[in-house]
Amino acid sequence: MTQISNETPASAFKSLGVSAPILKALAAEGYTTPTPIQTQAIPIVLKGRDLIGLAQTGTGKTAAFALPILDRLNASRKHAGEKSCRTLVLAPTRELASQIADSFRTYGRFLGLSTAVVFGGASMFKQKQALYRGVDILVATPGRLLDHISQRTLRLDAVEILVLDEADHMLDMGFIHDLRKIATLLPRHRQSLFFSATMPASIAELAAQFLDNPERVTVAPPSTTAERVEQAVIHVDQAKKQDLLHALLADKSVKRALVFTRTKHGADRVVKKLESAGFEAEAIHGNKNQGQRTRALDAFKKGHARLLVATEIAARGIDVDDISHVINYDLPNVPEQYVHRIGRTARAGAGGKAISFCAPDERAFLRDIERLTKQSVPVMETDLSLRAPRADERVPRPLKTGGGGGRPAHPARKHAPKKHHGSEAHGHAHAKQGHAPSRSREDGDRRDRKGNAVWSNSGPPRGRQRKPTRV
Ligand code: AMP
Repeated sequence: MTQISNETPASAFKSLGVSAPILKALAAEGYTTPTPIQTQAIPIVLKGRDLIGLAQTGTGKTAAFALPILDRLNASRKHAGEKSCRTLVLAPTRELASQIADSFRTYGRFLGLSTAVVFGGASMFKQKQALYRGVDILVATPGRLLDHISQRTLRLDAVEILVLDEADHMLDMGFIHDLRKIATLLPRHRQSLFFSATMPASIAELAAQFLDNPERVTVAPPSTTAERVEQAVIHVDQAKKQDLLHALLADKSVKRALVFTRTKHGADRVVKKLESAGFEAEAIHGNKNQGQRTRALDAFKKGHARLLVATEIAARGIDVDDISHVINYDLPNVPEQYVHRIGRTARAGAGGKAISFCAPDERAFLRDIERLTKQSVPVMETDLSLRAPRADERVPRPLKTGGGGGRPAHPARKHAPKKHHGSEAHGHAHAKQGHAPSRSREDGDRRDRKGNAVWSNSGPPRGRQRKPTRV
């Protein structure tokens, strides 16, 4: 076994109780100091206690649960049994599930434990094969997990440790019924860890169903992340946004930028125009299949593409270090999303820049963001800028129209149980099967007060909606 001396960079992790083979992997990753969530959570998980962690992505929460879980599994090695797993991690999206599985593999590379990942939109057959002999760690999205259970290719009766990650996003995506069902299939005697960026009553209720006398840790509320990022807003006409983007990119300090658009079509349009202007850019959204998404993300991670243009949902859980800039081509209509977006450039304590384009009909969104973060976003002037509104100018509420202008119910206040509305697998399944994708939130759909599709500038309402595919 490798000896880790006190001088190794990972020694701060040693004092938390992390064992030698994992310290070796951490040293190879260049981790020197545990993040606050890691300092608090690791000793609790190592003791075998249940835990509620209030932390968002970017705080190092994956390692906060993965490191002690690996240690516990390693300390009591046994075979999971056929079609079983010893640890089950539930995550809302495929991207997040893959990244969590990658983290387990990276941190546990000297342990020889097995890890599998299952999510919708990928081959069932390969996943069945991976599950057949049983695995130590299984990372899954809830819908596909239940598909395996109903096909008897997986049992949950050997689960020793359960992790529910990004519980708030799970509820936003309509997974509540799946989660309740999964809760009934798990053994009573187990350790459970629950992570969420917010804790409204609905999440606390869900947590109570899964946890037994949990310890609670809270780190960096969203506004703290927002404080680390240098922010600016440029007031600009919607029609001038593309030119503005090109003008900003002339600045070489924009080394690696994540650009957010509100809709999938918007993302494609922006990429097309960027490419014709000679910028290397990739798009990632729900109409892209898994292969395209992985390739786009890889090109961005490896620096082949300087820009990744993404929609909100596709970007959830994207874990890329050294993003120098987040550019909000469109401002999000839910202010918490702004905080999540700009947090992409402040990974694990680093700083970064966030530049937002604000068209006149997005000014109400900007005001909501400033209220949430309790800070005003400094205005940046450019040749293409519009006059910034004066502080006393009335900000009209945007009309409920296409293009995502309508403000949906606040996700923290209203968790629509509607299945996977706007889920990534949704558009993907349609694209794959040659159907026009049904209009999800990402398409900025247009509906009357009863929720019926109405005519928009781009054409008639879509036909009957197909049943969404599970993630
Ligand atoms: P997460 O919040 O789990 O998405 O992690 C955010 C990023 O921080 C990931 O890229 C991790 O690789 C990185 N990270 C996590 N813990 C540490 C640490 N202690 N030191 C340096 N980087 C870390």
